Amino acid sequence: MTTSPAAKNFSIEFFPPRTPEGVEKLRVTRAKLAQLHPAYFSVTFGAGGSTQSGTRDTVLEIRQEGHDAAPHLSCIGRTRDELRTILDEYRARGIKRLVALRGDLPSGYGAGFSSGEFRYANELIEFIRAETGNWFHIEVAAYPEMHPQAKSPQEDLQNFLRKVQSGADSAITQYFYNADAYFRFVEDVRAAGCGVPIVPGIMPITNYMQLTRFSDMCGAEIPRWIRLKLASYGDDTEAIKAFGLEVVAGMCERLLAGGAPGLHFYTLNQAAATTAIWQRLTA
Ligand code: FAD
Repeated sequence: MTTSPAAKNFSIEFFPPRTPEGVEKLRVTRAKLAQLHPAYFSVTFGAGGSTQSGTRDTVLEIRQEGHDAAPHLSCIGRTRDELRTILDEYRARGIKRLVALRGDLPSGYGAGFSSGEFRYANELIEFIRAETGNWFHIEVAAYPEMHPQAKSPQEDLQNFLRKVQSGADSAITQYFYNADAYFRFVEDVRAAGCGVPIVPGIMPITNYMQLTRFSDMCGAEIPRWIRLKLASYGDDTEAIKAFGLEVVAGMCERLLAGGAPGLHFYTLNQAAATTAIWQRLTA
């Protein structure tokens, strides 16, 4: 029996569906994943053109079903007034947890697109604390393999610490397939005197092309041996899933055994892979 994630801070991430069929499909996914009893579900904002109302509506529906839910909130391209309105609504609805991010400018942005009144996530966190005190539990992003735009790992670490100094309570990492990068990052954070929980973000492996695309965008490294294996399976999706389960569940076991305070699953609105990893961890 490995360290059960049930005893830890286990959370599940969705993106807000953009079609009525997607909404229906997410309900089914959610019903399956709710059986794993995560501490909370989180719902992304902004990525892939999703809207604030999509995030809010999904979060409210999850809460109506009796589960805790956290909207993601990004600040790039936004004004203080816009963010104040969103925060007021979340507070009025009793939402107590946020995942606060800078977000990314749309690719190819240029003339006519304003990056808004915030440059970095720490400014958003300062704003949330100034506006709402300690109402929200604030999660922020962390990058064990360094954020792709950072000048160096050292500067990225300082920028992470700045988010905690600005009022973040805990962190969720970008996904990775190298547990040592996580352990080293946590060590560096602790050495800097910062004790916030840092929950590893876990991306199940189910589709090689999609994973490569995402990883190129967000700077997550797929180790060469994993790439080679995945490529060797070609169109054999069952083999890819079986191998992905072995690799990711094995890494999760190592992370939990090594002291990770929980796991945050990037589900891409699919239930099967996360459920399979979970079952492996609790077997
Ligand atoms: P920041 O912490 O602001 O960092 C961005 C970059 O700027 C880093 O390179 C950092 O080193 C540097 N930096 C930070 N502060 C300073 C400073 N004061 N001076 C100089 N440099 C600085 N994106 C979405 O659009 N919607 C989502 O819902 C979403 N959810 C996410 C959830 C998680 C758990 C994670 C890990 C990422 C998520 N993202 C999401 C992606 C995220 O928005 C991008 O990775 C974005 O590029 C950085 O956001 P951040 O909050 O980490 O930014």
